Amino acid sequence: MTQPLFSKFWIRISLFTSVLLPFSCTTIGFHQTKVRESLSYGEQATVRVCVIKEEGIEDKDVFTLFEAWNEELSFYQLKAEPSILMTMERPGFYGTDILEYLILFKMPSQCDRLLYLKGRTWGDILFEVLTLGIFAGVGVKLEVQGAVEAKTNTKGYIKAKYISTIQLLFTSPKSTLIHEGYHMLGCGHQLFMKECYERIRDVKLLLTDPNRDPNFFPNINSSGRKILKRPI
Ligand SMILES: [Zn+2]
Repeated sequence: MTQPLFSKFWIRISLFTSVLLPFSCTTIGFHQTKVRESLSYGEQATVRVCVIKEEGIEDKDVFTLFEAWNEELSFYQLKAEPSILMTMERPGFYGTDILEYLILFKMPSQCDRLLYLKGRTWGDILFEVLTLGIFAGVGVKLEVQGAVEAKTNTKGYIKAKYISTIQLLFTSPKSTLIHEGYHMLGCGHQLFMKECYERIRDVKLLLTDPNRDPNFFPNINSSGRKILKRPI
């Protein structure tokens, strides 16, 4: 009798990973409210996020995005404060071009994190149409909604422009910002959020580290290294 139960279990697991996981990618893992509430995140703190945006993204779009992010951050006694640095043309077509640009971009002293808001051009729309074909064909969604560099987890980009294609079924700029926002606090991907809650708690504990730059909100990168000083 154990055999059928066992296979039923595996069918469930595979259904779970194939059906539910793609949707959960809009967040970074499944929330565990009880676990989250059982941890202490210390005092209220502010992360200053400098924003570089593309043409077509208005200041009010930035504030709307941050409102959604801050709702999520309030779980951890945290607030992200946007400061718009500039509006510019995209440094390259691909996400990797943007990340490379950000890695070399010197973060001004009033920034703890750097966020690039990618807009939507006619070239993007064409690319979306092309990748949509591949998506429908093999069931893989090629387009990346955002990314954070893994060296310091302090710089990243998201697709910030509201879109009308099938992608909206899966994601939105707000959920992308929340997702990448977790990476910017040192979280990786996990099925359940426990590890991420602990990471945020540990990052906030670094605020009391005597070796940190007092004018920088510290971080822990993807491989667990403490980032106590503002990277270039
Ligand atoms: Zn991610």
